[in-house]
Amino acid sequence: MLIRLFLIGFILVLIGRTVRTFMGGVQKKQPQITPTPLVADPVCGLYIDRDQAIPARGPSGETVYFCSRDCRDKYLSPHPDSSPEVPPGERRSG
Ligand SMILES: [Zn+2]
Repeated sequence: MLIRLFLIGFILVLIGRTVRTFMGGVQKKQPQITPTPLVADPVCGLYIDRDQAIPARGPSGETVYFCSRDCRDKYLSPHPDSSPEVPPGERRSG
């Protein structure tokens, strides 16, 4: 009789542990989303995800990110404003 009680108690404990383990494993786990760092486009000033940006080497070796190839080309190409060429005869007088 005592052995049977002991066995029943043992089984109950085992079942309790199993249930507890099972319930513990079903805890809500929210997936951790690591935010993508934003980078600023130096040409147009837009902020874009670094994963989706177009990287390029800056003049001093640093990595610069752009929103589009147009912006990258503008950045890499020499600035047209640095040497303004005014065609002769275009001056307005007056
Ligand atoms: Zn841009």
